[in-house]
Amino acid sequence: MLHKNTLLCAALSAALLGGAAQTANAAVVTSLKPLGFIASAIADGVTPTDVLLPDGASEHDYSLRPSDVKRLQNADLVFWVGPDMEAFMAKSAQQIPADKRVTMAELDGVKTLLMKGADDDEHDHEGPSHEEEKSDEHHHHGDYNMHLWLSPEIARLSAVAIHDKLVEVMPQSRAKLDANLQAFEASLARADKQVGDELAPLKGKGYFVFHDAYGYFEKHYGLTPLGHFTVNPEIQPGAQRLHEIRTQLVEQKATCVFAEPQFRPAVVEAVARGTSVRMGTLDPLGISIKLGKESYPQFLAQLSNQYVSCLKGE
Ligand SMILES: [Zn+2]
Repeated sequence: MLHKNTLLCAALSAALLGGAAQTANAAVVTSLKPLGFIASAIADGVTPTDVLLPDGASEHDYSLRPSDVKRLQNADLVFWVGPDMEAFMAKSAQQIPADKRVTMAELDGVKTLLMKGADDDEHDHEGPSHEEEKSDEHHHHGDYNMHLWLSPEIARLSAVAIHDKLVEVMPQSRAKLDANLQAFEASLARADKQVGDELAPLKGKGYFVFHDAYGYFEKHYGLTPLGHFTVNPEIQPGAQRLHEIRTQLVEQKATCVFAEPQFRPAVVEAVARGTSVRMGTLDPLGISIKLGKESYPQFLAQLSNQYVSCLKGE
């Protein structure tokens, strides 16, 4: 009995201590994995980085778990895109003091880089049974493309902002944070050059992507997408859109259609069936990549390889 009680006590105090340690411990919490790639490079060797969205979940329809809310509350720095992307944490983010929050969409220099999002899908959803149409989020989503982590330029601006905030929170680590930022910028510049070289020959090759996520990457590297199946991967593309895509595939305007690791919808295969188009995969969240100093450049390189492996040839 005594033994059992002692164990229980030990477990309890460990839990309490653990909780306290977590609060005291400096930590960066990011909403999505690619933001974790950027943050973990800057915080490397200084403080741990944690990502909310689990691998395989969608950035468009996640729900915070109670443990996520706690992680946000205990964080020393929260890094997210903004309410038009991660609607699932908009309320929790509001409760975080402004000096502990980096909002990608609101950073200096980012506003002028924002790209309009496609809202052409709206027409496909005007059926009477379409519930999503009532949601404001969906309409907001169409104003700008909020997949900002796919812009190497915005990634660099974000790294600077995270660096500056961390220096405020942990001035004693300034030297290490400065060195990390410098290393990140150098490594990003190298990856950017390499990806640019790899993708340059693919200019003019048409393709369709599953969801409208890649605009910043495509613009930056001069790729030539023909369109997307859907704006929000949770919403099935409409019949008219599918017909338009099918027509272009039959007319051999496209080399590839890209699905995603999380979304391999039958609809993409059905549209491509009987045409000569190839199927590829693009991973906009880098789910197989581990956080660390080189993870963001690795993410760019992986995405580049995914484009190349489907679009090259012929
Ligand atoms: Zn998306």
